[in-house]
Amino acid sequence: MPILSIKLPLFEPTHAKIHLYEDMRASFSEACNVAIRVKRENPESKASEIDRTLAPIQLPSTLRQEARKLACSRYADWKKHTKTKGFPQFRQKIAIPFNNQNWHLRFDNGFLKLGVPTADEGRLTVEKYVPLKTNAYTLFWVNYLLSGEMDETSNYYNPSINPAIQPKKGSGQLFCKKGTWYFSFALSFEMKGSLTSGKAIGVDRGLKAIAVAGDQTTGEYLLFSGKRIGHVRRKFSNLRRTLMQKKNQKALKRLKNKEQRIIHYWNHVIAKDIVAFAKTQGASIIKIEDLKGIRSMKRYWKRSDRNVNSWAFFDLETKLAYKAELAELVVQKVSPFKTSQECAACGTTLKTNRRGSRYTCSCGYRHNADVNASFVIAARPPISTAVN
Ligand SMILES: [Zn+2]
Repeated sequence: MPILSIKLPLFEPTHAKIHLYEDMRASFSEACNVAIRVKRENPESKASEIDRTLAPIQLPSTLRQEARKLACSRYADWKKHTKTKGFPQFRQKIAIPFNNQNWHLRFDNGFLKLGVPTADEGRLTVEKYVPLKTNAYTLFWVNYLLSGEMDETSNYYNPSINPAIQPKKGSGQLFCKKGTWYFSFALSFEMKGSLTSGKAIGVDRGLKAIAVAGDQTTGEYLLFSGKRIGHVRRKFSNLRRTLMQKKNQKALKRLKNKEQRIIHYWNHVIAKDIVAFAKTQGASIIKIEDLKGIRSMKRYWKRSDRNVNSWAFFDLETKLAYKAELAELVVQKVSPFKTSQECAACGTTLKTNRRGSRYTCSCGYRHNADVNASFVIAARPPISTAVN
């Protein structure tokens, strides 16, 4: 099920509204910080106990619950990495989250308007809805969400979306970026009859090669070298070390953002090319390794990179899943067990067959090791058909 994120700027919000949101954001951040401290002092605290300590904070009760949930998940995450991570502190300028029950869109006087619970109101009324700025793209998706019908005359119309199943509203968030307030929300929909049988290509992810897509039936493959990315990663990792020594948190944050933007862009390009490759090979299935449950990621990234770049793998997965579904392809996950040691030709699994970037088997088969792994992945049975 593909998920889209739609971002809409608020249309000329009044000063009063902006103040209201700023106050709400500050209170939300405070609630998160209070909740996570309660959790630290007493990890056994029940939800109701945490909610009681948040009661004096000026927030709609639904946001107090969101703050508690966010704090608890951040706490759990910190517990797992206490050695490497400092105790989490929520920023003042945090995004305010709303679960799918708590935000509403409607058209009113020619405007698309947003309603969210705020601290000063009991009920949402039409006057309290705020107008949003739209464009042809966002309007297409908003209309689809609100009416369940797609505008077939729109440039954004996608005939492979299944109109029989209503789109689903996801969570939303209100946030300010560079002085502009936005509301963004998630929207998911179903595609028409996805194929679950047919030809598969395999995608191997790694360090030397960021990704290799291979089709054993034709012997063709597409390799995304890690050289350039490795170079950038090392550069960023060196910069990071320097900044950490200088304890320059602001610059560190900026660096992290920049690195993430670059990786997002690369993953977008790689995912797009893999989907195009699958199409030209006549494949209907893209298989990838299921890395979620894997304990040792040694093969995939170096120790120094592990925390920083592990998300890059899963980001590629998400982008691939999304682009594949739009192209009416299925992404399936397969077991990652010794994919790099198995021979794609005869099935022998031998560690010594892999030497550096070469794979050589006693059956006579030899190939680039990552290409071999992509063939092996393509041949494995799926362990699940859905990604995400
Ligand atoms: Zn062999």
